[in-house]
Amino acid sequence: MTYRLAHSLVDLRAEVDAAYPGRDKASDGWIGNAEHASRGNGSDHNPDRSHPLGIVRALDLDKDDRDGSRANIAQTVVDAMLRTKDPRVKYVIWRGRMFSSYVSRGVPAWTWRPYNGVNGHFEHVHVSVNPGSTGDRPGPWRISTPLAPAPATPDPEDTMTDEQFKAHLAAMREGFTSVVEEVRNLRPVLNTINTTNDGTRVAARSIHSALEKVVGLITPSAAGR
Ligand SMILES: [Zn+2]
Repeated sequence: MTYRLAHSLVDLRAEVDAAYPGRDKASDGWIGNAEHASRGNGSDHNPDRSHPLGIVRALDLDKDDRDGSRANIAQTVVDAMLRTKDPRVKYVIWRGRMFSSYVSRGVPAWTWRPYNGVNGHFEHVHVSVNPGSTGDRPGPWRISTPLAPAPATPDPEDTMTDEQFKAHLAAMREGFTSVVEEVRNLRPVLNTINTTNDGTRVAARSIHSALEKVVGLITPSAAGR
């Protein structure tokens, strides 16, 4: 028996591999296994005999990384398909739900509906492509959207009113001024350190010069206002 995976799905898999190097492939799959075949359920994982080569028009893609750290790989693929509405897509099954590119039992195209099959597809996303040349067509899927970034913490200064910002600056200025004051007060203390011990003297000197640098850094910004 000869068969091959649809060109479209070869490209999909390559695109996901490129976007997520090192992704888990344990739940990947494409050729119908014995269970699929014996059920005779017309799974797209079984070679399509209307094509001389026998084209397999379904691909399973594992949901995440080997360590589970990037848990949304399958979700990203699904989201992309809902966004691009690629004409090659026939239907997609993921986490107990499915959508198809056509109206099915009154449910509009590209709209989730419950999937009640034996395997709820919680470990992998199942993508079936259309029959004929449409579903077989190679080409990019535009799924390589970066993983969702961590939710951005709003920059407080973006949300400040002018008045709040002025108060913020005043508080900073006050803070700098008090730091400078404390450093100045430390100078005489350092001068009283017992200088008969060489190690203590060296330490006192380096603390002193570090403090001088701090004063030098802070003073212009504190005095410039
Ligand atoms: Zn499948």
